[in-house]
Amino acid sequence: MAYDPDNIFARILRGTSPCIPVYEDEETLAFMDIMPEAEGHVLVVPKEPAETLFDLSERGAQACIRTTRLIGIAVKKALGKPGVYISQLNGAEAGQTVPHCHFHVIPCTAETTYHPHATVRADDEELREIAARIRACLA
Ligand code: 5GP
Repeated sequence: MAYDPDNIFARILRGTSPCIPVYEDEETLAFMDIMPEAEGHVLVVPKEPAETLFDLSERGAQACIRTTRLIGIAVKKALGKPGVYISQLNGAEAGQTVPHCHFHVIPCTAETTYHPHATVRADDEELREIAARIRACLA
């Protein structure tokens, strides 16, 4: 299927829709998920237009993994959680709801209770406060 340039992450990348940013470099952007599965849930997206990981260039995939690792280290420290759950869905059949490739980075413990995927809208002020804590922990 052709890439949809109007999907929400494409609009965030163009700056026509808002996001609460955590990190940006030439190839990737990381921002807070507005419907977090757990506190500190960050999304890492490539700037390259690609619907799934398999549509992404090797360079784009490498950039995503680099940023996902960086964010994983920072959320672990910022939220004081010993575990980090990372997921990445490809295609509606796998549960992907936004058709622009992305990685979910979710700090956790064995006791973490997860909200169901993309259902509970978080408070923007709280997300901004958590984003500031994560940014402060970026190496
Ligand atoms: P997917 O289902 O495609 O793997 O994940 C999409 C993610 O994007 C979900 O976790 C959902 O909560 C998040 N999401 C959906 N719309 C928006 C939005 O407008 N802004 C942000 N920051 N996250 C969104």
